[in-house]
Amino acid sequence: MKFSELGLPSNILEKLKDMGYDEMTPIQEVTYPIITAGQDLCAIAETGSGKTAACVIPLIQKVDPTLNAIQGLVIVPTRELCMQYVGEIHKIAANTAVTPFAVYGGFDREIEIAKLKHEVHILVATPGRLIDFLYGGKLSLSNVKCAILDEADELLKVGFLEDIEFILSCILHEHQTLLFSATMPDDIKKLAHDCLHDPQHVSLITKRSAPESIEHYFFYTHPKNKEAELIKYLGDETIDQVIIFCNARHKVDTLFRFIRQNFKEVEYIHAGLSQSKRTSIFMKFRNRKVRYLIASDVAGRGLDFSHVSHVINWDFPEGRDRYTHRTGRAGRMGKKGKALTFVTKRDIPNLRELICRQNIRPCWIGIDPLLDNKTDRDGETRKRKRPFRPYSRKAKKKTE
Ligand code: ADP
Ligand code: MG
Repeated sequence: MKFSELGLPSNILEKLKDMGYDEMTPIQEVTYPIITAGQDLCAIAETGSGKTAACVIPLIQKVDPTLNAIQGLVIVPTRELCMQYVGEIHKIAANTAVTPFAVYGGFDREIEIAKLKHEVHILVATPGRLIDFLYGGKLSLSNVKCAILDEADELLKVGFLEDIEFILSCILHEHQTLLFSATMPDDIKKLAHDCLHDPQHVSLITKRSAPESIEHYFFYTHPKNKEAELIKYLGDETIDQVIIFCNARHKVDTLFRFIRQNFKEVEYIHAGLSQSKRTSIFMKFRNRKVRYLIASDVAGRGLDFSHVSHVINWDFPEGRDRYTHRTGRAGRMGKKGKALTFVTKRDIPNLRELICRQNIRPCWIGIDPLLDNKTDRDGETRKRKRPFRPYSRKAKKKTE
């Protein structure tokens, strides 16, 4: 279905046309009538399928720009996602009188407070900064008609959950609540239900939350060979942009220093950087000034970089749905993408679970450790010329 068939006001429709949005994506088509009807909603659709615009288009229509009050609230888990989300609202609402604004940790509070005093209709926020402002009486949510939790399953996890409950409790009047994500584990689904009133459920995911356009490569290797194999892989592949994910900040730092010796246009991002540095790297990567981005999971959810051709899991992703979200940074909107995951011996139990749960077709570069009984315990075959010698404790410590 085309956006032109929705009867949208011309100031929104023209903007969508400028942005190249002509056909609605499936999630946009299914959720539009539910959101406009004012119903609560829990919507699940694969990464890169247009969930942002699915919320933003009806949200803009709900706002009365003559009322100077926050009427739409969007909560997201990370600062970069906050910037990206508000950017999408700015674009779609550009020809309307609706004013969106973002508040997030690490940005100048005084500037944010000044803007909030002036005029904001749709507020996009990370939970921490929003709570800070709510406690300080810097903003009111009493006119909110529609609250959106993007990456809802992340926001309903321990750590964020109490904050979200508090924020939602500050919306005193009757309102609509919308939850969106590519993943929704069963235990979180129950919590999600508690936030919703008589909700509609939409899931466009039957067995998998990854788009078909992503090819899933895996590489079983010994930890000590990973650096050389990575350099070879990056050299062999035609890479537009790549994000290489590590499980810890110090690993991001170390890998960044190593890759920088071999390639140009390399940057890194994790939560240990100042916000101005994070923003600058995010913008540079978005504008394709950086080709290789080494990242922690701070860049693992929601971010839309349309030129990412490859995602590499330097470390096997920890936690249930991280693989889906990390690899979902590639292959967006039907574009082709490749994911490569390094697997070492200790990752095998998690690998089995991942392949089973995600219903992906793994392509093995070299040995498939789940099939090949010649695979030794270090990820090297016994066919190698050198006899297998278990690596010493000292070497193990150094390489893992
Ligand atoms: P998701 O939140 O589902 O991961 P996004 O909302 O980030 O996906 O959208 C992915 C990309 O698709 C973005 O670059 C966005 O601009 C683009 N997009 C969204 N809707 C449409 C559409 N109807 N037609 C074309 N491109 C779209
Ligand atoms: Mg999204």
